[in-house]
Amino acid sequence: MKNMTRRNLLKMSGASLGIVALGLSPLPSGAKSLGGKSERKLKIVVVGGHPDDPETGCGGTMALLAADGHEVVSAYLTKGEAGIQGKSYAEAAQIRTNEALEACKILNARAAFFSQIDGSSEITHDRYIEVYDFLKKENPDVVFTHWPIDRHRDHRICSILVYDAWLKLNREFDLYYFEVESGGQTQNFPPTNFVDISSVIEKKHAACYSHVSQDMASVYRDYHEAMEKFRGMQANCKYAEAFIKHNHSKLKIV
Ligand SMILES: [Zn+2]
Repeated sequence: MKNMTRRNLLKMSGASLGIVALGLSPLPSGAKSLGGKSERKLKIVVVGGHPDDPETGCGGTMALLAADGHEVVSAYLTKGEAGIQGKSYAEAAQIRTNEALEACKILNARAAFFSQIDGSSEITHDRYIEVYDFLKKENPDVVFTHWPIDRHRDHRICSILVYDAWLKLNREFDLYYFEVESGGQTQNFPPTNFVDISSVIEKKHAACYSHVSQDMASVYRDYHEAMEKFRGMQANCKYAEAFIKHNHSKLKIV
């Protein structure tokens, strides 16, 4: 692990990262807007359990990173097969895949799909390998995934599979956790980092509302809208997303 010298810390939280908001300040006052230009293009991978998780959890941050010239990949553990009442798994998967593709188009992200099934996610030897192989091939600089304390089993499994791959890949990328439907799904989430998403809030909303099959109007109002405002209050801006950075990340981005 690189020495966490003061110089590195400063660079981490400075313009070279481009994503200055993902700097190291553990306090809400550390919130800063994205907007600095990076010295190099970064690969950012977001792994969520279902179509709509990456977008609702960190769609604003994804939009900011993409606008900053970074490559953003939105990966889905399942295609949301169980998520539309009255539709077969195959029909729901098709509808929700299309919604995810539409959301990714808005956020300027590339979509990727694993082969797990919504509501029946597994942790097996082969599933570990599937996520490991994917992340090894993508070779990201930063990965975002679910916080593992979550009432939804798919979210927990997603988080653990990514965490295991991160360990096996020698912590070569920085690992951040996002929150979804806090209280109802994500729980016990003490943020270490905030991102001011005020400038891209409309883009984030458009991406999230692409998931029309998910009754997004009420879900968004009851959870994510409240979350982005509350996190904004904590971070002294209008709208924010909150993250927990794993403190064993290797600080590759300096
Ligand atoms: Zn989900």
